[in-house]
Amino acid sequence: AKEEGRGNFQYFSSERNLEALYHLRLEAELRKAIERDEFELHYQPQVDILKGDKLIGMEALLRWRHHEDGLVRTDIFIKVAESCGLIVDIDRWVLRQACLQGVIWSQSYDEIFKLSVNISAVHFRQADFIEGVKKILAETGLDPHLLGFEITEGVLMKELDTAKEHLRELRVLGIEVAIDDFGTGYSSLAYLRHFDVDTLKIDRSFLVDIATNEADQAIASSIIELARNLKLNVVAEGVETKEQLEQIFSRGCYVIQGYYFSKPLIFR
Ligand code: C2E
Ligand code: CA
Ligand code: CA
Ligand code: CA
Repeated sequence: AKEEGRGNFQYFSSERNLEALYHLRLEAELRKAIERDEFELHYQPQVDILKGDKLIGMEALLRWRHHEDGLVRTDIFIKVAESCGLIVDIDRWVLRQACLQGVIWSQSYDEIFKLSVNISAVHFRQADFIEGVKKILAETGLDPHLLGFEITEGVLMKELDTAKEHLRELRVLGIEVAIDDFGTGYSSLAYLRHFDVDTLKIDRSFLVDIATNEADQAIASSIIELARNLKLNVVAEGVETKEQLEQIFSRGCYVIQGYYFSKPLIFR
C-alpha cells in the first residue's frame, strides 16, 4: 500500500484515501470523546455451566456513542486509538469506570464475580502501566482480587522483559490475567512457558462453525487440553447456539460467554 505514493492518481481517488480521511476524523473526534462523555461500558456475563449457569464474571466492553454519528464500531475505533496512542487514556477511563462499577456490585451482592477489563498491548507495554493501575485501584477502592485483565498474545511477543515484569506485578497485586483471542496470533505456544497467566480465552472465530467444521473442533479440543495440562482456566467466547455450547461442553470447557446466555448489558 505504501508504494502507491504521491503522483499516483489511483492513490488520490481511491477508497483508501477516503478511509484515511475517515481515520483522521475518527482520531480528531476520539480526542474529544472522553470530555464529551461519549463513552459507556457494557458488561457481558460469563457463566459456569458446571455450577448451574452461575455468573462468575463480567467483561467490560467499551461503546462510543458519538453525538452526531451514533454508535461507532468498537474494533474500528480501538484500532485507531491504538495507532495514535489515545488508547492509553481510553483504557484508563475504562478501568476506572469498571472499578467503580465493581465497587457498587460488591456492595450490593453477596455473590462475587470477576470483572474483566481489556488491556491494549500499547497500554500494557507502557513503563508506567502498573503505576497507573495501582493509582486507579487506590482511587476507586476496588479489591484487586475482583479484577481480571484480558490481553492478547501480541502483548507477550514484544519486549518480553517488560511483559514478564508487568505480569509478575499483576500477580502480586492479585489481578488475574487471561490471554484473549487465544490461538489467533502467530506465536508459537512456547511463550506460555515464560508467562504466568491464569486463563486462555478461546476466540469466537473457532466457535462460529464448530458444529460442523472438524478442524475447528480439533482446535477447540487442543486449546482446552492445553489449558488443562498447564492448569489454566479456559473460557469460550462468542457462544451463540445450543450446538456450539454442546460442542464446547463435551470437550471440557465449562465457562461460557456469548449471546447464548447474554449480550453485553448496560447498567445505569
Ligand atoms: P474481544 O475482547 O474479543 O471481545 C469480544 C467481542 O465479541 C465483543 O465485541 C463482544 O460484544 C462480542 N461477542 C460476545 N459474544 C458474542 C456472540 O455470541 N456473538 C457475536 N457475534 N459477538 C459476540 P465488541 O464489544 O464489539 O469488542 C470488539 C473488540 O474491541 C474486543 O474484542 C476488544 O478487543 C476490543 N475492546 C472492547 N472494549 C475494549 C476496551 O475497553 N479496551 C480495549 N483496549 N479494547 C476493547
Ligand atoms: Ca476480551
Ligand atoms: Ca475475541
Ligand atoms: Ca480482542
